[in-house]
Amino acid sequence: MTKGTIGVTSENIFPVIKKFMYSDHEIFLRELVSNAVDATQKLKTLASVGEFKGELGDLKIRISVDKKKKTITISDRGIGMTAEEIDQFINQIAFSSAEEFLEKYKNDAQSIIGHFGLGFYSAFMVSKKVEIFTLSYKEGAVAQHWSCNGDPEYVLEDTIKSDRGTDVVLHVDDDNLEFLEESKIRELLLKYCRFLPVEIAFGKKKEWKDGKYVETEEDEIINNTQPAWIRKPSELTEEDYLNFYRELFPYNEDPLFYIHLNVDYPFHLTGILYFPKIKNNIDIQRNKIQLYCNQVFVTDHVENIVPEYLTLLHGVIDSPDIPLNVSRSYLQNDSNVRKISNHITKKVADRLQEIFKNDRNQFEQKWDDLKLFIQYGMLTDEKFYERAEKFALFKNVDGKYFTYEEYKTLIGENQKDKNGDLIYLYATNLEEQYSYIQHAKDKGYDVLLMDGQLDIHLISHLEQKWEKTRFVRVDSDVVEKLIQKEDNTNVSLSEAQREALTTIFNSQLPAMDKTNFIVTFEQLGPNVNPVLITQNEFMRRMKEMSAMQGGMMNFYGEIPDSYNLVVNTTHPLIEKLLNDEETACAEELAPIETELSDLNNKLHQLKENHKNKKEEEIPAEEKDELTSLEKKIDELKEKRKSILASFASGYQTVRQLIDLALLANNMLKGEALANFVKRSIDLM
Ligand code: ADP
Repeated sequence: MTKGTIGVTSENIFPVIKKFMYSDHEIFLRELVSNAVDATQKLKTLASVGEFKGELGDLKIRISVDKKKKTITISDRGIGMTAEEIDQFINQIAFSSAEEFLEKYKNDAQSIIGHFGLGFYSAFMVSKKVEIFTLSYKEGAVAQHWSCNGDPEYVLEDTIKSDRGTDVVLHVDDDNLEFLEESKIRELLLKYCRFLPVEIAFGKKKEWKDGKYVETEEDEIINNTQPAWIRKPSELTEEDYLNFYRELFPYNEDPLFYIHLNVDYPFHLTGILYFPKIKNNIDIQRNKIQLYCNQVFVTDHVENIVPEYLTLLHGVIDSPDIPLNVSRSYLQNDSNVRKISNHITKKVADRLQEIFKNDRNQFEQKWDDLKLFIQYGMLTDEKFYERAEKFALFKNVDGKYFTYEEYKTLIGENQKDKNGDLIYLYATNLEEQYSYIQHAKDKGYDVLLMDGQLDIHLISHLEQKWEKTRFVRVDSDVVEKLIQKEDNTNVSLSEAQREALTTIFNSQLPAMDKTNFIVTFEQLGPNVNPVLITQNEFMRRMKEMSAMQGGMMNFYGEIPDSYNLVVNTTHPLIEKLLNDEETACAEELAPIETELSDLNNKLHQLKENHKNKKEEEIPAEEKDELTSLEKKIDELKEKRKSILASFASGYQTVRQLIDLALLANNMLKGEALANFVKRSIDLM
């Protein structure tokens, strides 16, 4: 029997293991089972090259829990260890600059374990005592018993063990009794060991018998040793890929497509990535890529390994070349990781392009489900954008799909404005913007449907990339001005008419929460509605973006929605309204207008006189006169307003026209809507 001190050079490793690795305690099982797998694989290799000539026999790894003795045992029938090997591999934890490293990574068990090759010692995270019973495959080897109580002292002695291989026995400490629950161990095995290449037995298969489950003689194997990603693509059918997806994500809808990754040089990478149907909420779709290292589960947080948008994909990546023993922030700068990330990006783009080329029909059918993913990639990854620009699609309001190139050709000359800018018209809601879409179509324009979560962002992105291109929502202006072909034809209204109409419409606009209207005038002809409502493209987009992002942009969210109430002055109803107003109000307004113009003249003269005088040079009575003039003018204006308003309120058409415009914009609700219906009936 040997007694000794574990070779930790600078500091006792155990307190570190116990204290600092707290959060990741559960990985002990992964580490120990991985060691057992390695030992088994090594033996198989030795057998295949003829160095081991004995019977391999049953190579299952067995996990067992003894609740009474408070032990967990991991047994393998691999190569085992001789006394020298234990001394070399277990007792001598050789590492340099340990203190510095421990200090740096004290909260990152993963790093510590990886860095030191301390997999085995993670056993002490949950145990007060660990024993190894092992018999090497080597001829004449003597079985060994190693035992350690979680301090640097260990005991190593000969023992009796008839079977080749290693049993690691953990005496679970009182803080970690949860790991003695069968369900807990099963959960961890399924999490970390589900696709390990050697069969892992935990308990016995159960069978439904006489109304309850009873244990059978057969071992319950918890892992699939041949997961699809390690098999050759040529051996797999579509069904195999689907089944593997269902194995990984039993509760998900079937995916759209898959990519089988398989690289040998300059790094090793295998895996299968699936394109899920991404409908609306990006966030719930994340963390569905599992990272493995030689079939051992490492993490499902791959955000530092693949570009952000790729985290929307589902599946498995397996690479021994992704360093697991470093901090996460370091990963992004690792050259292997960068290469892997670029490779995956390229493969994803290749695959999409391939489907687009070979089966455009299928691609179009799946576009609505793929769109969010592709747009996300285009917005966040320049390389992907360059590829995707060729297969990304636009969909128009008639459900037709176009590539960007095709669409540009389609709208080409027809949708250029007077400055030569190409105007892409779009709608975000087929129902609500129906009449605007219709107007645009009647004019021979094409309208895109942009109703996705990222469409607004994509629009801004494309506007930045493409020269002389603007996206304009169909309801952001009257159809004549959506694509301005020539300079504005001035509306031929006198100042008095303009004021009268503004007052008339303003007085009848309903009060709406956080909503402003500005009355404007256009000559749109008798075929366009007499009154329309539009919303400025820029302000609306700002508001939409801020609603999505919050934060800084929230400033815009507080601004009320501002709409234009566009009055079509060349519509017969508006012409009639003006005539009627002039007839009805002339008598009352005439003296006011005369007086107003008188007063305005006086005011003007007074101001002229004062122009070159200093404040103190102006006599007091002139100052008073000025104030009283201004007051009178205001009063007269108010009077004029109230005359016009009272005319407007008796002239049902005004309210009716406003309500119709609101209705066309889906803005007429509740009581206002009921009033409108009633008024309409009365009018009939
Ligand atoms: P790593 O696995 O990273 O090398 P570990 O601390 O987990 O580090 O193991 C140290 C060494 O101990 C292994 O490389 C292996 O040689 C030996 N070892 C550990 N577990 C077993 C086992 N179950 N059977 C045979 N050898 C083992």
